[in-house]
Amino acid sequence: MLHEKLGGLYEEVARRNAGETEFHQSVYEVLTSLGPVVDKHPEYVDSEVIRRLCEPERQIIFRVPWVDDNGTVQINRGFRVEFNSALGPFKGGLRFHPSVYLGIVKFLGFEQIFKNSLTGMPIGGAKGGADFDPKGRSDDEVMRFCQSFMTELYRHLGEYTDVPAGDIGVGMREIGYLFGQYKRITNRYESGVLTGKGTTWGGSLVRTEATGYGTVYFVNEILKSHNDSFEGKRAVVSGSGNVAIYAVEKVQELGGAVIACSDSNGYVVDEKGIDVDLLKEVKEVRRGRIADYAEMRGGAASFVADRNVWEVPCDIALPCATQNEINGDEARSLITNGCRIVAEGANMPCSPTAIKQFADAGVTFAPGKAANAGGVATSALEMQQNASRDSWTFAETEQRLEQIMHRIHNRCLSTADEYGQPGNYVAGANIAGFIRVADAMLALGVV
Ligand code: NDP
Repeated sequence: MLHEKLGGLYEEVARRNAGETEFHQSVYEVLTSLGPVVDKHPEYVDSEVIRRLCEPERQIIFRVPWVDDNGTVQINRGFRVEFNSALGPFKGGLRFHPSVYLGIVKFLGFEQIFKNSLTGMPIGGAKGGADFDPKGRSDDEVMRFCQSFMTELYRHLGEYTDVPAGDIGVGMREIGYLFGQYKRITNRYESGVLTGKGTTWGGSLVRTEATGYGTVYFVNEILKSHNDSFEGKRAVVSGSGNVAIYAVEKVQELGGAVIACSDSNGYVVDEKGIDVDLLKEVKEVRRGRIADYAEMRGGAASFVADRNVWEVPCDIALPCATQNEINGDEARSLITNGCRIVAEGANMPCSPTAIKQFADAGVTFAPGKAANAGGVATSALEMQQNASRDSWTFAETEQRLEQIMHRIHNRCLSTADEYGQPGNYVAGANIAGFIRVADAMLALGVV
């Protein structure tokens, strides 16, 4: 339920951004948590900080023309939504996926504001991407697409202005082509303009692993707060991309077993625990499908086509694929099968219905804003290393990541306590993220 002072704002957002359903969902979810804040601090409503937060500072939409390997001209649509820069330069990833449209970029950018705020680091919120599908494209095609994309986007970027990174469909290969084109156009080796770079050309160790590792560190904090650990726990992870692979790796390092993971064609079950080296070989080296994993693993694993991984019984569920992948049915199945903790490695993978069902069933739920913030936090560490022309060791960087996740976890819990909702990570993350950015906006005046 929305506070009476916020209902009108939500209706206005829905009306002014018609058809952008994912954006509406993310705004509603944050506003729902802000009731107690509005009661305690009416100045946030009086000064229109919340209304200003719901309107991006700048939205850029552009044509991306490129030529495929057959010599055919292709046209895609590119986006960058620079949502809020009260805390630092715009920061947030680029997504290349055929489903990308303004509503998805805006939901991701809106989430990013609060996530970045929660990290405590000096980064604003943004997101971008294109409705381009890198799947099945040659390296040359991906390169030409990235070059065309950057030929338009470069004028909006800069280490003190806007610093993109990867997301779905954008990994180190794409960041390399984007950075190469930025460097060529501007004639500047401006390392701090993109994060997720290769470690030989300005990247940070641990950035590749950071989102997956960070999500698992967050769950570890939850377990520790209940005097528990990963030892002997069964986990299920959705997806088999960047976030999923490193979530699998860290769960198993901490003593749990990930017995299933997936892609958009189905899932694999591997009762002995996913073989991470094989998963990396299939997904990172061969750019193959999860079905290939089962085939290469022989009898140890089986592939289930066109079904949902959430039917596999587990103690801990880590959705690491895409938005709204866990709805009412999937949540019911997880609850019935005894799942105790759900932590979002992906952005908004659980629908409001699913989140309510988890709360009603006493399942601990960690929202992506908090649980997957390790990725962007390590991007900020990459920016720090770029600015000081330094590079830290893997161990040092990972230790910082672990400390950041520890702090985010505690900030969520203490804020939830302060606002009368003990143990509610959604309220804690939304309120703590909101207050830091809202206070900065108040300090900076109406700009
Ligand atoms: P990748 O492209 O590396 O992997 C995405 C995975 O999710 C793939 O296995 C893909 O399967 C699956 N997937 C994507 N879309 C769909 C869909 N519509 N239906 C079913 N499966 C799907 O992306 P990332 O791992 O980087 O990102 C995953 C999630 O994590 C996203 O929500 C992203 O916003 C979030 N995130 C990522 C961060 C990062 O640092 N990379 C940081 C914070 C959040 P298939 O190959 O079949 O499409």
